[in-house]
Amino acid sequence: MKIISNPLELKASLSSQKSVGFVPTMGALHEGHLALIKKAKEENDIVVVSIFVNPTQFLAGEDLDKYPRKDDADKKICSLAGVDILFFPSVEDIYGDDEVQVYAPNVRGYVLEGATRPGHFSGVLRVVMKLLNIVTPTKAYFGKKDAQQLHLIMLMVKQYFMNVEIVPVDTVRDSDGLAQSSRNVYLSKKEREEALKIPAALYAASKLVSKGVLNVDAIQNKMLEILSPLEVGYVAILDRDFNVVKSVEIGNTVILVEALAGKTRLLDNLWL
Ligand code: AMP
Repeated sequence: MKIISNPLELKASLSSQKSVGFVPTMGALHEGHLALIKKAKEENDIVVVSIFVNPTQFLAGEDLDKYPRKDDADKKICSLAGVDILFFPSVEDIYGDDEVQVYAPNVRGYVLEGATRPGHFSGVLRVVMKLLNIVTPTKAYFGKKDAQQLHLIMLMVKQYFMNVEIVPVDTVRDSDGLAQSSRNVYLSKKEREEALKIPAALYAASKLVSKGVLNVDAIQNKMLEILSPLEVGYVAILDRDFNVVKSVEIGNTVILVEALAGKTRLLDNLWL
């Protein structure tokens, strides 16, 4: 496995005819990341993984400084997973002074996650645009767990006529049902137990739907009841274009939850 930090060196090393699968991450790799890498390996000749804790997507006062960093372990994990190139840039490798800006859309980028974290998605899109331009992959792999992020990246790729296929990958969960996340290490034992209300609420929603209950208010109320011990950021039931709907339509609905366990903001969702 090659480890490259310089964007131009990476570009030069990829100038071949082979298909390239790209998995952008912020490191502290877990099985969720590995699922993306596995799919990328299955579908491409070469797999590039990036590890970059992107400062522009953290708001002032967020956990940029204490975001978990496990560089040595991550390098081993990537090597064992058969990654061909690990892109490991510094902040200076990626950002310059007085840059051309990329902004999240005014509505879709400022609801749900974007409401509590205004500007977060501008930082995400800015770095994803750069990373995709550096790697120029055939396909790039993103987790459905970060559903709004995935939606906005797909929108950017479409609206900016970018030449890459975005591949959504299912959420990987721990055996107790909690969606894997690098931030789960922040949870105490008690907070982790409380956090299980999140998959429980999504499971209850799927059971209601399977019984024929499609009304959004009824599903939301049931979910809020289950989530009540937690501080809930939102429970949203949307179509796959992220429009508000009154009724669940199988094959075109996503249910999104954000809740705090202690101080840790957790995201989860269910695609119906
Ligand atoms: P992160 O390192 O948290 O920025 O995540 C990098 C990529 O991994 C993003 O596309 C995430 O959506 C994806 N990801 C994170 N957690 C999971 C998970 N539990 N299952 C599947 N994909 C995930």
